Amino acid sequence: MTPDRPARAPLPSVGLAAEAILTDLDARQALEPDVHGARLFGLVYPTGRDDLEELMAAVNRRYLFHNALNPFKFPEIAALERDVVGMAAGMVHLPEAGGGSMTSGGTESILMSMLVNRERAKARGVGRPQILVPASAHPAYAKAAHYFEMDVVTVPLDERWRADVSAAAELIGPSTAVVVASAFSYPYGVMDPVVDLAALAAEHGAGCHVDACIGGFVLPFLERLGHDVPPWDFRVSGVTEMSADVHKYGYCPKGASVVLHRDDDWFGHQVFLYDRWGAGLYGSPGVAGARPAAPIATAWAVMHYLGASGYAEIVGGLVETTGRLRSAIDALEGIDVLGDPIGPVLALCSDTLDLYAVGDVLDAKGWNLNRNTDPRGLHLMLSPAHADVVDDLVSDLRDAVAKHGESRGKEARYS
Ligand SMILES: *Cc1c(COP(=O)(O)O)cnc(C)c1O
Repeated sequence: MTPDRPARAPLPSVGLAAEAILTDLDARQALEPDVHGARLFGLVYPTGRDDLEELMAAVNRRYLFHNALNPFKFPEIAALERDVVGMAAGMVHLPEAGGGSMTSGGTESILMSMLVNRERAKARGVGRPQILVPASAHPAYAKAAHYFEMDVVTVPLDERWRADVSAAAELIGPSTAVVVASAFSYPYGVMDPVVDLAALAAEHGAGCHVDACIGGFVLPFLERLGHDVPPWDFRVSGVTEMSADVHKYGYCPKGASVVLHRDDDWFGHQVFLYDRWGAGLYGSPGVAGARPAAPIATAWAVMHYLGASGYAEIVGGLVETTGRLRSAIDALEGIDVLGDPIGPVLALCSDTLDLYAVGDVLDAKGWNLNRNTDPRGLHLMLSPAHADVVDDLVSDLRDAVAKHGESRGKEARYS
């Protein structure tokens, strides 16, 4: 029924039956990739675990209608948020004096951090504060600059696809409000040199934001499992802010991230207060006014349910799945993994194959692969549920490479 919908459907003059509505939604979902099917990458993070999903559904039912805006009316929701922030803070070694809040996602966490960094720079007399961002950083920094009247200064990458520290040293200046380091980056899955960038920032009186939107719920457990993880968290002096997404490798539904500040006073600058209307003092720590409580309660529940051992076990599985995929790719002639990715994000490139054409063959087999543009190639972000399909993915990839080789002209049509 869905493909022939009018462009603008009116409000039904009388309500429809619940069953008809659910049937319609089922039909729409059938037209989109299955969020449980492990053939999607990056947009969703399926675990394949029914126990986890049942818990999340039960928590969401309980918190469908609450509003996290007012901590005085809902002090327990505020306490749940403090717990989530506290648990995340512990994972990344935030000093006791630090502070933070939950937000709707990585973008909002980054926006709030950039706002605070702007205020800090203004307080020391900077007229038009700059954000120094690696070329591989997420667009949220450019969005923040656009929203908050700041400028983006782009740091080129080195030959290993990490922020080039000597280039950053040339670009940093008196207007630099904050230096960004990804741990790890979305396009290539590699760690920026956090220690060097944070030291550079500190030397110039600037903040250093570590973007751990993806890495925040991966790196602490890689370290716990004994893997070699270069210093990246608040143990690195000079790191002032961090973003970590619970709705990525924390395995919660969308709407949950954490932003942390080394100094609680700086968190204070994140909070907007207003009392010049007739309804009393209004305060809010993020972009949203009214805030859903379900993502807060769900993050609290999932983090308590998995615990450090649960996350470590999942990360152990991701390491294994990523290793299987990597060794299969290494055995394929003409395809390389870019740089030295530390976790479950791999960027593939090739000097001899048109990887977009290879991706098109894979997509035709039901995979939904993302494309990188620089360098042109494929982007794979693995979730726990990919463990069960990685062998299929490898054999389809081999097949796509071989087929593509045989009929290059034909396959090139796809791109
Ligand atoms: C996903 C991501 C973001 C933005 O997070 P959203 O939740 O999509 O707003 C920022 N930085 C990195 C490295 C990311 O992977």
